[in-house]
Parts: sequence; structure tokens; C-alpha cells
Amino acid sequence: MGADRIEYLGFLITAEGSRPLPEKVEAIINYKLPSTIHDLRTFLGLINFYRSYLKDAAKTQALLHELLKGKKKKERRKVPWTDDTRRNFEKCKTDLAEAALLSFPRTGIPLSLCTDALYFAVDSVLQQFENDGWKPIAFYSKKLNDTQRRKTLWCDISTSKIRPYTPEEFRMQMFRQIHGFCHPGVKSTIKQITEKFICPDMKKQVGEWAKTCMRCEKCKVNRHTKSKFDGRSDVVHMDFIGPLPSSEGMEYCLTSIDRYSSWIEAVPLPAEIVGKAFYNNWICRF
Ligand SMILES: [Zn+2]
Repeated sequence: MGADRIEYLGFLITAEGSRPLPEKVEAIINYKLPSTIHDLRTFLGLINFYRSYLKDAAKTQALLHELLKGKKKKERRKVPWTDDTRRNFEKCKTDLAEAALLSFPRTGIPLSLCTDALYFAVDSVLQQFENDGWKPIAFYSKKLNDTQRRKTLWCDISTSKIRPYTPEEFRMQMFRQIHGFCHPGVKSTIKQITEKFICPDMKKQVGEWAKTCMRCEKCKVNRHTKSKFDGRSDVVHMDFIGPLPSSEGMEYCLTSIDRYSSWIEAVPLPAEIVGKAFYNNWICRF
């Protein structure tokens, strides 16, 4: 008769799936707060043997790994524990105690990969749909290094509008895209940016860029007094932008903004029309 469960290299394997062996889990849960850097490294090594069973391991362990940064392998110096790092150490243990039962991968049923990225770590779970519910097959997590952090697309999904986080080096470009479209005022530029992107502490910077915009300066209208235009279409500012990346043969845009209502229209134009106008009125004449 076959056994209904076996222990194998630190794992308990049953018909439903696999999980960390209870004795091993027990030993880790009883692990005392490591006093030296070397002890902490040993603890993280032990717990990471079961990393694929742990949800959000990268996030939970991030501060603990931070303590090992730049330290020698057998460092005997004391760990400078804080309330936060102590809490993370305890959470590592409770997460292991609650470690998920991982199903065996099966073919022919739906799979899903859910990923959650924080600024410093990416945690994900691979699941399969069995017996009316999603069951985890494995957890993957990774702490990001500085270069990876800069390249990570981090999005805010707390509202119905998904807004990507914009790293500092792309902010000027993003400002130009949004403000340069039809040169709205400072407030409106900030509003449009924050509706589409997450850029912490950026209001002041955007305000300065908008205030020093040459185009805005040239056709300055006092935005703080009551509009001196009585009605729609009294004054319409027009601008011409491009070349832009081609979309359905259109590479240029004619923008019009009504000063009274602030209504904006953008008309896409093909490069051919713009080219002809430029050729006839510039190249042929000069
Ligand atoms: Zn401007």
C-alpha cells in the first residue's frame, strides 16, 4: 500500500500538495532574536529555504537584509535592532507558521500570475484554478537593487485610474508632454499630471517649469484676474506641435484653446500636408 504522505528533504508531501515540514517550522519559530549579524544571516538562510512558500517574503525581509549590507560574512558585531526590524523578524516567523500549502502544478487548468511591486521589492504568486478556487503553486519574491528600482514600473491601483509612478529622470519629459501640448496654466498642468501620474513632491518643480516656459511667457495672459474676454471664441490661441510618433499616418497636431472657456481641441495632421505647406511657403520662397 502506498503512503498518503511522505517527508522529503524538509518538505511534507501529501496528495493535495507540499508544505514545509512541521518540525523544521517549529525550530525556526523558536529561533531567538539573533544577537550578531552572523546569527541574523543564518536565520535568513534558514527561512529562505522555504521562500517559495512565503507570501511577500521580499517585502517582509527587506529591512533585515538591509542590516547585512556591506557587512562581513562572519561579522560578530551586534545587530542594531529597532522596533521595525524586530517586528519584521517576528513576521518572518509567523509567515512561516502560516506557510501556504502549495498545490502541484496541473496541466489543462487556468493559471494566473499576480505580481505586486513596491518601490524596493517585487512579490508574486503563481496560482492555478482548482476546485472552484485559486490555489498557490509557488511564491516568488525579489528585493530590487538600485538600478532595477529605477527601471521598475510601479503603479498606483488604489483608484479606478491606474497611475504609473514617474521616476525623477523622466519628470521633465513628462512635463513637456503634458504642458507642451497646449500650454495650460500652472494649476491645470499640475492637475493634469497628478491625474495621470504619481510624482511625489513635484508640485513646486512643475510650478517652476510652467512659470519659466518660454511659449507661455510669449503669449502671457493674466490668469489671476477675471477673464477680460466676454464670450466663447473671442480669443483662441492656436499652436502647432510635432513631429510626433506617427499614428495612422498623422505626425503633427494643430491645437486650439479658447481663452474664455479653456476648451481645447487637437486636430491631427499628416506629415504630407505640413510638408507641402512648409515647402510652398518657406523652401520655395527663401
Ligand atoms: Zn508653456
